Amino acid sequence: MSKQPNIIAIDGPAASGKSTLGERLAKHFGYLYFDTGVMYRAVTWAVLHSSCDVRDEIAVTKIAENTQIEVLPPSAACRKYDVLIDGRDITDEIRSPEVEAMVSVVSAYPGVRRAMSLQQRRIGLRGNVVMVGRDIGTVVLPEAPLKVYLEASVEVRAKRRLLEVKQRDPQMSYEEVLQALMRRDEIDSTRSVAPLRPADDAHIIHTDNLTIEEVVRKVIDLSRGV
Ligand code: C5P
Repeated sequence: MSKQPNIIAIDGPAASGKSTLGERLAKHFGYLYFDTGVMYRAVTWAVLHSSCDVRDEIAVTKIAENTQIEVLPPSAACRKYDVLIDGRDITDEIRSPEVEAMVSVVSAYPGVRRAMSLQQRRIGLRGNVVMVGRDIGTVVLPEAPLKVYLEASVEVRAKRRLLEVKQRDPQMSYEEVLQALMRRDEIDSTRSVAPLRPADDAHIIHTDNLTIEEVVRKVIDLSRGV
């Protein structure tokens, strides 16, 4: 890679460290950090707050097509961004166990994916962006000059996620977090459209035995063609 990549695509399973890596890289390069999972979570929240059944693909797709999701700069220091739907702040609610349990079902619907990826691609093509998700390197921005796919064992991911979740929900157990991750992994990687997988030209990084600083350093080295 001769010059700094203007689009960095980061994919990988839940709790593999994508968001932390994405944020650090965006800061390093002065790029926009865009977490596409937020959009799928926001649609799922909208579905759960409507009269529509999550299993009704046509109705869920309509909601995805017609809902105005806004991701704005954070209004509080403890936040990375504010997420709004029709003016209502749902930033904290998109992390609820109810959304977590249904987001993979909603995001497996092809029509939902079409609506989300079109918007994501439009934003990504402006450049100077670090975009994080499951299908960024394969579907949303296949032309990204730097693609990274993070891998980590499900046990390590569950331990990391438990630390985060415990702050919001002290009752949550390791076993519950592990089962929820495994369920999401299964749906995300076996769906017919845009399943979770590394792009052929993605750099795969196993993070089980690496600190976040080491992962960030590796990707910055990759961006320089090291
Ligand atoms: O990254 P995060 O865990 O917030 O993503 C929540 C869910 O959104 C994932 O489990 C997946 O079902 C969906 N997702 C997706 N494609 C993306 C980003 C997220 O299908 N690009």
